[in-house]
Formats: sequence, C-alpha cells, structure tokens
Amino acid sequence: MIDVLVIGGGNAALCAALMAREAGASVMLLEGAPKAWRGGNSQHTRNLRCMHDAPQDVLVDAYPEEEYWQDLLKVTGGLTNEKLARIAIRASSHCRDWMRAHGVHFQPPLSGALHVARTNAFFMGGGKALVNAYYRSAERLGVQIRYNAQVHDIELEHDRFVAAHLAEREVDGQRLPAERIVAKACVLAAGGFESNREWLRQAWGQNERGEWPSDNFLIRGTRFNTGVLLKRMGELGADIIGDPTQAHMVAIDARAPLYDGGICTRIDCVSLGVVVNRDGERFYDEGEDFWPKRYAIWGRLVAGQPGQQAYSIIDQQAIGRFMPPVFPGTSANTLADLAGKLGLPQTQFIQTIEDFNRACQVGTFDHTALDDCHTQGLTPAKSHWARPLVKPPFYAYPLKPGVTFTYLGLATDETAAVHFAGKPSRNLFVAGEMMAGNVLGKGYTAGIGMAIGTAFGRIAGAQAASSAGFAASTQSMEARHATV
Ligand SMILES: Cc1cc2nc3c(=O)[nH]c(=O)nc-3n(C[C@H](O)[C@H](O)[C@H](O)COP(=O)(O)OP(=O)(O)OC[C@H]3O[C@@H](n4cnc5c(N)ncnc54)[C@H](O)[C@@H]3O)c2cc1C
Repeated sequence: MIDVLVIGGGNAALCAALMAREAGASVMLLEGAPKAWRGGNSQHTRNLRCMHDAPQDVLVDAYPEEEYWQDLLKVTGGLTNEKLARIAIRASSHCRDWMRAHGVHFQPPLSGALHVARTNAFFMGGGKALVNAYYRSAERLGVQIRYNAQVHDIELEHDRFVAAHLAEREVDGQRLPAERIVAKACVLAAGGFESNREWLRQAWGQNERGEWPSDNFLIRGTRFNTGVLLKRMGELGADIIGDPTQAHMVAIDARAPLYDGGICTRIDCVSLGVVVNRDGERFYDEGEDFWPKRYAIWGRLVAGQPGQQAYSIIDQQAIGRFMPPVFPGTSANTLADLAGKLGLPQTQFIQTIEDFNRACQVGTFDHTALDDCHTQGLTPAKSHWARPLVKPPFYAYPLKPGVTFTYLGLATDETAAVHFAGKPSRNLFVAGEMMAGNVLGKGYTAGIGMAIGTAFGRIAGAQAASSAGFAASTQSMEARHATV
C-alpha cells in the first residue's frame, strides 16, 4: 500500500509530495491534467511574497512579520485566520532554501520597482520553471507521478481517508479502467473551482438585468480546477469555509482565451485613462490608488457592469507608460470614430470623455506618485493621474472579468488536517487553493497564493508522512512554532 497519496499537481501538491518523500514515505502524486498541462495555476505564477527582517539575496530592505500581517489584514478586511496567516507568513521567511534545494531559482523583479523588490521574490523562468523543477526533483526522489489522473471520489471511513477513485477514462485513444487507489494518508491539493462554469453560475446567480454574469467570465489559469473534490468533500461532511463568490478577479483583455491566458492578458493602462461600460459611461475611480494595489478589484467591478464588458480608454500621452498588452488596442483619430469601431453609443461616449476632460484639474503628472492630477465635480471622481484625453490617436482595450482562483475551501488548522464537524482527520490533509480561504476570506496581496500553498503544502506532506508512520522533517514544522 502507498504511504502518502497526493491529489493535484500544482505547487501545493508538489511541496506536499516532496516533504512526504523526504520523510521516507512512499508517495504517489495524481495530476488530473495531461503531462503537457501539468502544474495547475502554479505554472502561471511569477513570485512569492516573503517576510524578511533584513535584505536577503534578491529581496531588498526588510519586510517584517507585522507589516506583512497588517497588509493581509487590510486586504481581507479581517476575514482571515490569524494563526494560519502567521504560519504562512513565517514560513515564507525560510522556505526558499528548501525550494532552492529542489531546483527553484530566484531573481529580482525585472522592472526594478522598489515596492515589489522589497516584498516579493521572483521565480527565474516563472511558475513553469518552478513546477518543472519540482517535478524533476520528485522523479529523482522516487515519487510515482501519474498524469490524466482526475480523481472523482474519495472513500472515507468516518473521518479517515481510505481510497481515491478514478473513473474509467480515455487517454490518448486508450480506454483506461476505473481504479481504486488506497493509501495510509492523503493530501488534497486539487485547486479551487474556478474552471467549473456550472458552479460559478450557481454561485453568482442571475443579476437584476436577467444576466448570468459568470457566463462572461474568463479563467486566467488552468481548465482542470473544476472543484470536483471540493464539492465531494462537502457532501462527505468536511467543514467548508468561505463565500463561493469570493475570488481573485482581474479585469483582463476580453479577447483572452477562455482558459490559461495567464498574466500576459492583463490590461495595465486603467489608471492612465478612463474606463467606460458598454453604455459609454464611467463607473469607478480609475486613479484611486497605485495600480498594483487596485488591479485585483477591477474584475469584480466589470462583473457588475451590463454584459460584464468594459473598455479601457487612453490617448497618445499614455503610450510607453505601461506594459503593452499582448493584443493591440483599437485605435482611432477621433472619439467618434473610436466609438464607432467599438460599437459604443457615440453621443454618450463623447459626452463622458468631454465631461471628464472638463473636470480634470491641471497639476503635475507623476505616475510614480499619488499625484495632484484629479477631477473636480465629477462622479465618479478620478483621484490621481487625471489628464484630459485630447491627444490622438485614441486607443481602447476591451475588458472582461478574469478569475484567477476561487476562495471557497476546506476548513483546516495548523496541522493542515481536513476537519469534520470541527474535528481534525488523522490521515487526510489539505493544501493550497483548496484551503486558501482560511487565510483569504476576501481581497488579495500579490504573492500570498504561493506563500500559502508552499507553507501548507509542506505542512500537509510532513503531517501525512507522520500519520503514515514516518517522522516528519523538522524543516516543515512551522505549525509547531505557531504562537497565536
Ligand atoms: C495567471 C495567474 C498568475 C498568478 N500569479 C501568482 C503569483 O505570481 N504569485 C502567487 O502567489 N500566486 C499567483 N497566482 C495564484 C497561484 O497560482 C495559486 O495561489 C497557487 O498556484 C495555488 O497552488 P495549488 O497547488 O493550490 O493549485 P494549482 O497550481 O492550481 O494546482 C491544482 C492542481 O490540481 C489538479 N487537479 C484539479 N482537480 C483534480 C482532480 N479531481 N484530480 C486530480 N488532480 C486535480 C490540477 O490539474 C492542478 O494540477 C496566479 C494565478 C494565476 C491564474
């Protein structure tokens, strides 16, 4: 019998598998995706938010525990479990040596921007290189890895894991039989449910216009995170945490593919111009705060607009001041032509831009500071970087909500155990997106997804090994040091 079965094939699963194997357990990892698509959302990532008290290799200055915690507290509005959050935060200060030992390399951010250079360590080669390094290390250590292995059911005896079930399926034209895989312990790390259109529909419901908003959402990451096991665990009585409509949601290019568009479909010129909906009207302050602090609210904002559609409008003055999106914008020399090309109501669109232009107070434009270019007497206001849109050509980028990952998950504790009616299972553990909702009730701060997945993946792997009779490595025992 296998000692530890790990379900999932992203960062959290790989961290768990490596830890369990290092502790001496025999480990099998079941990745639902084919090999070419292995690595879940983790393959799209770029960085890890890291606590540090002094400069550390690629990280400048200091980012102490308390500041990290306060940042998290602010974005979640208090919807977080402090004990689990601090475990993830502390683990982020020393997990990188272990990551390096498994082949992950780090680099400073290419932009050299001080803000992220202090808080986030970037993966050289991105998340794709990270998951490839972990897979290589896992293979070298003797972890059995199986692809196309979508688990559809979990067999329990009360709160004890017994087996995982794979349905009969076709892989590369070959019919594979149904399987029952037993193990002494199991780690669930199969992501959120962002790729389950039906579940998203159910969670978001119908709005006052009779629309099903989630039908217009794009999924920024993997198509394989369908939440099958999350749903099944709920049916089996596991404790669930979080709100199904809470997720990390970005306004991305409406022309992005339905899945796996990744980071290059982001539109980063919102704060340099205005955003209008399909009625040609503005609906939110585009210059409320620095873009890195605001980009993750725009997915929800666009989801609230008619048709879940919006357009980011800039003029020539903005060109060169933001990362160019992968698809070119629609351009025109007049606002009327732009409205025509976009199919927007021309009179309303021109009125919106002219109202905005008139309300702009001339100041000293500085995109690197919260400058004094703002509007007066306009609703909604634009608080910073408000400059009249007067220099042709004008450009427009169509926006749609892009879901990064959902927050609904399994309730857990510092041992990463799955809970049933408030009691921890002794051999079933959870990590990554499947439990991130314990820390992220809402909101987001860049790099925390990988911090949670790495900390709890490692804890879950060590605990699963221990439950199967193998002493856990001391490196993984952040849980023991939890003091709050
Ligand atoms: C475009 C994008 C950019 C991001 N950038 C960052 C970043 O820079 N920093 C950061 O911290 N976070 C980032 N995130 C969030 C980050 O990806 C997640 O927080 C993190 O990857 C979660 O890891 P995970 O292992 O839990 O899930 P995933 O990496 O999504 O892995 C889930 C795995 O489970 C498998 N699976 C699903 N269902 C089953 C099943 N039934 N049976 C078997 N296997 C199954 C999937 O195939 C997949 O391999 C980003 C996300 C996206 C989409």
